Amino acid sequence: MARNFGDDFAGRPLIVGGGLAGMMAALSMQRPSVLLCPARPGEASSSMLAQGGISACVAADDTCELHIADTLAAGDGLCDESVVARIIPEGPEIIALLERYGVVFDRDAAGQLIVGQEAAHSRRRVVHACGDSTGAAVVKALAEQIRQTPRIRVMQGELRKIILHEGEVCGWEADIGGRRLSVGSPAIVLATGGIGGLFPYTTNVSQATGSGLALAARAGAVIADPEFVQFHPTALAVGNAQGRMSLISEAVRGEGAFLLNERGERFTDELAPRDVVARAIQAHLSQGHQVFLDARTLPGLRFAERFPGIDVICRRNGINPSTMLIPVRPAVHYHMGGVATDTCGRSTVKGLWACGEVASTGLHGANRLASNSLLEAAVMGRAVARDIDASIFPAMFGHVSENRLIPENSDVLPAVRDLTGECLGILRDEPALRKAEEALRPMAEQSDAALVALMMVCAARERKESRGAHARMDYPQQATTARRTFMTMSDCLGHVGKNTVSFHSVSEGVV
Ligand SMILES: Cc1cc2nc3c(=O)[nH]c(=O)nc-3n(C[C@H](O)[C@H](O)[C@H](O)COP(=O)(O)OP(=O)(O)OC[C@H]3O[C@@H](n4cnc5c(N)ncnc54)[C@H](O)[C@@H]3O)c2cc1C
Repeated sequence: MARNFGDDFAGRPLIVGGGLAGMMAALSMQRPSVLLCPARPGEASSSMLAQGGISACVAADDTCELHIADTLAAGDGLCDESVVARIIPEGPEIIALLERYGVVFDRDAAGQLIVGQEAAHSRRRVVHACGDSTGAAVVKALAEQIRQTPRIRVMQGELRKIILHEGEVCGWEADIGGRRLSVGSPAIVLATGGIGGLFPYTTNVSQATGSGLALAARAGAVIADPEFVQFHPTALAVGNAQGRMSLISEAVRGEGAFLLNERGERFTDELAPRDVVARAIQAHLSQGHQVFLDARTLPGLRFAERFPGIDVICRRNGINPSTMLIPVRPAVHYHMGGVATDTCGRSTVKGLWACGEVASTGLHGANRLASNSLLEAAVMGRAVARDIDASIFPAMFGHVSENRLIPENSDVLPAVRDLTGECLGILRDEPALRKAEEALRPMAEQSDAALVALMMVCAARERKESRGAHARMDYPQQATTARRTFMTMSDCLGHVGKNTVSFHSVSEGVV
């Protein structure tokens, strides 16, 4: 195996992932770093696809306290309040910083930021760019900044392994254009995004298969709340295509669009939290109804002007949203669970940080408030960079011991998707979860996809309550104490139907 410890990348912190979290970490870090991403920075990321925008309490009628209260209410008792109080107030400063990086947010004629309305927000507070193409505008500006910053070395490739010495990070191994490169480094930042690609229906890019989560778990990191998967209520339901589905942003409902069945009847509160709306749509579909979004008469708005990107997506599929109903169904959208971190982004493994969707800080609890994830990715990317800049690393990394290389079996992914689609959906129960666990367990050692799905299933089995995005048909009530899940890979691989997953009540604090 290639060892390349004299390489000029050696000793630099490695940042893995070219979405908002990874780019923000790279730009904020004053030390020379390596940014590793499979495509050019920004591409093949959820960040690039973001439509609605970034939540920040910038409007005259808004306050941080209101934004915090909405975040806690959506999180259904499971948010870590100290984390919420640390991240949410940074919204206005993050918007200003992104503007300094060259992002042009939409402003009105008086020069004020235009703020959109989204579900479960008590105020208009979603700052957007190019109408509904916020993610594309943000990643384009940051990618240009990265290009102009010589201390950031961009490498195109995929992280394959975190190398440890006595339980601490001392290097990494990546596939770089078919070449296997091993590099010594005291610090790795995982910013590898979500897990939607493990499910049959998702709004995520297909590359979002939780590889960073699996690598962290294999390195011994504690994983938090993996059972909490957010389904977006309104993915565009055209044809019978599986895989990536186009999103119809919640901002469309925020501007007044209704959810209707084929008889033209409304059946739910369109601005309830995502988990509530997704379950209502799923229940309606299960009863044999069709579900549509009616955006034909948005008050005071021309659809194509406010939502130009969604207008193009719909028209490409033969739907004119100004005159026609848009067929929708729920799809996997966001992972509240992830690598357990503190508010500096530190994981439980020394030398390993995580930020963005791959991490679980405790901000989102059981259900993420719309547009809080870009905010978290930016805030935590910067926090990680500051923490690494303030850290003292040894000049030499000593002897390197490697974990066994786990070859990914590409045949496994379709089987994993079948199981998650059948057993880890919007509504869950014990027989289905047990079936998934039994099928995934033999694959988990060899396959990162199966390992991540197994961790989600084990935690979902142990959570014998319904809370936020985790709805159990056999345990419809909420437990009296809100407890977060913390588990390691060995907890999970040793789990045989006993309570080996550890729970901590939210008031006990995180790692
Ligand atoms: C369609 C859509 C719309 C959304 N709209 C909004 C919105 O309006 N507001 C909001 O707040 N949130 C929104 N979200 C959620 C939000 O976009 C994501 O949570 C956020 O962008 C995650 O950023 P990230 O940097 O953590 O991950 P990502 O942006 O997904 O980036 C992860 C990067 O890591 C790379 N990667 C993965 N594994 C490896 C590996 N092993 N080696 C190297 N690189 C790797 C990926 O290719 C990618 O480049 C939306 C999500 C989707 C899918």
